[in-house]
Amino acid sequence: MVSRPPARIGDSIEDVDTPALVVELDAFEENLAHMARSLEGSAIRLRPHSKTHKSPMVAAKQIALGAVGVCCQTVAEAEAMVMGGVRDVLVSNEVVGERKIARLAALARQARLGVCVDDAGNAEALAGAARAFGATLETYVEVDVGSRRCGVDPGAPARDLARRVAAAPGLRFAGLQGYFGSAQHVRAHAERRVAIAEAAGKLGETKALIEKDGIACPVVTGAGTGTYRFEAASGVYTEVQPGSYVFMDRDYARNLGPDGAPARDFRHSLFVLATVMSRPATDRAVLDAGLKALAFDSGPPAIDGQADAEYVRAADEHGVVRLGEGGRQLRLGDKVRLIPGHCDPTVNLHDWYVGVRGGRVEALWLIAARGAGT
Ligand SMILES: *Cc1c(COP(=O)(O)O)cnc(C)c1O
Repeated sequence: MVSRPPARIGDSIEDVDTPALVVELDAFEENLAHMARSLEGSAIRLRPHSKTHKSPMVAAKQIALGAVGVCCQTVAEAEAMVMGGVRDVLVSNEVVGERKIARLAALARQARLGVCVDDAGNAEALAGAARAFGATLETYVEVDVGSRRCGVDPGAPARDLARRVAAAPGLRFAGLQGYFGSAQHVRAHAERRVAIAEAAGKLGETKALIEKDGIACPVVTGAGTGTYRFEAASGVYTEVQPGSYVFMDRDYARNLGPDGAPARDFRHSLFVLATVMSRPATDRAVLDAGLKALAFDSGPPAIDGQADAEYVRAADEHGVVRLGEGGRQLRLGDKVRLIPGHCDPTVNLHDWYVGVRGGRVEALWLIAARGAGT
């Protein structure tokens, strides 16, 4: 069940109920525009990852600026995107289990649907379901380029699986996915570049091997916010999948640019708005945003505008903040903006985006694809 929105259109940000997920629309729109500009004039297709925002409203804005469609990580996300009007969706992940596969195949009758495989038996199951539904699944062989998550090894193992896919009625072999997830948050710019150069090398060789068999391999897809410029310039990748750039988070802000300074290509546009609910000591404030409002897998949030304050401890509904000199004047009921450590799982905890411009609520967007991902 969806909760009631924490604000009304036209409200001042001071009147937004908390904890609330706030999107600063100016920064958000700049991030979308910056991404579109950075790929302008290149042949690289932008397929942003919607696991970050989980909202067909945001997907529509990305597509309006040139994205070819979106990536999803789960069938539930794909269903929400198609229902929201997105016509081209890649599930950049493996889909396993009869019920999920049937849902995916059914969805492929309504939109162009892509999926990744790293197992021949799974490819057979997908093909069977696609035939049963009279649908075609654009199928990508996922190659492990170094992340040690999903994916077959580059070279012959990927070529062998591509052969199976190409021969299976119901599937269309669309190409390769090589997403280097663990390279995204490597801090040093040069190290990220080297990691992607190696990945592109492996994918280029694999693609050549597949084409030697007479099987076309039109798409090589991958990349996240931390590395997409390297994939885009590699000459091997044809499509990039950045997600976090729309919002940015505290973890991504620690990545360094080519000059060794923190990369500032994209701005923080996502905040959790919290209220000071207790002020038990001069140097301590307790906020109403804890584990139910923020994800902590990449560390605690930063307190916007207060570099000397530290979010030290989270409980279900409480966030304990140690205040520096700058925060001592905070009073009960005051509002504080938090920059999440990790945007995607933070978004997943909320039902609504509160879109704000100039301190006023301008939009309320349902986070339609949130949830555990069934
Ligand atoms: C998460 C993910 C992305 C997007 O990465 P960001 O770091 O959020 O930009 C792209 N592709 C795949 C397969 C992913 O899992």
